[in-house]
Amino acid sequence: MKKTLTDIDVRGKKVLVRVDYNVPFDANFKITNDKRIMETLPTIEYLLKKNASIILMSHLGRPKGKVVSEMSLKPIAIRLGKILGKSIKFVSENCVSVESKKVAKNLKPGQIFLLENLRFHPGEESKNDSGEKNKSSMDTFAKDLASMGEVFIQDAFGAVHRSHASTTGIVKYVKDAATGFLVKKELKFLRKILENPVRPFLAILGGAKVSDKISIIKNLLEKVDSIIIGGAMAYTFLKAQDVNTGASLVENDKLDLALDIFKKTKERKVNFLLPVDHVITNKIDFIKKNVTSDATIENTIDEAIRDGFMGVDIGVKSIEKFAEIIKSAKTIVWNGPLGIFEIDEFSKGTVEIAKVVADVTDKGVISVIGGGDSITAAKKARIDKKISHISTGGGAFLEFLEGKDLPGITVLPDKK
Ligand code: AMP
Repeated sequence: MKKTLTDIDVRGKKVLVRVDYNVPFDANFKITNDKRIMETLPTIEYLLKKNASIILMSHLGRPKGKVVSEMSLKPIAIRLGKILGKSIKFVSENCVSVESKKVAKNLKPGQIFLLENLRFHPGEESKNDSGEKNKSSMDTFAKDLASMGEVFIQDAFGAVHRSHASTTGIVKYVKDAATGFLVKKELKFLRKILENPVRPFLAILGGAKVSDKISIIKNLLEKVDSIIIGGAMAYTFLKAQDVNTGASLVENDKLDLALDIFKKTKERKVNFLLPVDHVITNKIDFIKKNVTSDATIENTIDEAIRDGFMGVDIGVKSIEKFAEIIKSAKTIVWNGPLGIFEIDEFSKGTVEIAKVVADVTDKGVISVIGGGDSITAAKKARIDKKISHISTGGGAFLEFLEGKDLPGITVLPDKK
């Protein structure tokens, strides 16, 4: 167990908090979704109550060690100020400049200072000016950041799978460190499902490519009772079993891998479910994300897809079959849409399955959803508020499911 915010003394201290304010903007630099800001409020409000002075640190986008004015955190300082009803201190361009350090030094209890984009500095991602790896530049930057505060709180779950100055490097230069409330909540749910799930434990995996999800499937095979596979991924598994997949997205170089997975599911006695029918079409505009008016859309009678047609969603029989398994599960983890859900005509499978997951959650099942598109899909189905936990960490969530170590967590001190 890692130390958490309530385990360390923050009263009246200068606290450095790593947050993930990598929020989406529209063309006019307006924040389109402030969920990531809102998620950090419990930690900020707790620190304010403890009379701490708060230095918030975040990255935004991929400026690659250079100042890119469009990726400044200034609009976020303004939005956070509006949410909290207080002014947020901010210094442009360089988060470890003389001016920035002066603001940090003079910060009073109850005041908040948001540092400029960490990734404007080459040391954050441990790369030098020419983009080469440079550990000493990361170390110097980490030390510089640490010099502005006394203790460090990690509350950026979306960044803990990266070993950067502000996630791992900083820890050895501060007096104490711990997880914030958001990271604590994420770890509670993710550990519960992977280390001690209430059974039957079901994984639902969708999305575009088997190759992206292979490590997740392999790791989950050791832990789950059932796996539902949907999305384009399913066609590679079907083709490996000599089922006709027509013009569907298939990774031909992954057919042996698919056969290997079938073997492992048998050895582990995991119930491995593929779609038994599909929604198919003969025309689709992937760029505009729509179907052309002359396209034919059909539900197949079985798992085979005829030539010239591609599978774009799970069919009605698959929805029924998958719903049955979902209703018998006690723990569910879901990543990846089951069809091209961005196009309304092909979103039914994902939306219907999401509704069933929401219904069983209502009856006491633990459900966890994560990974970028899955969250958008849950929102499209209007069930995002009904899920036990929606993870805020895209990459970190996926790496956790792969069984990988999260360096930004590992580096934190354990609870005594
Ligand atoms: P991922 O990032 O791997 O979770 O993949 C998400 C993407 O997979 C979404 O953009 C979906 O449109 C896409 N996808 C899901 N099902 C299919 C399918 N049957 N054919 C093509 N793309 C799909």
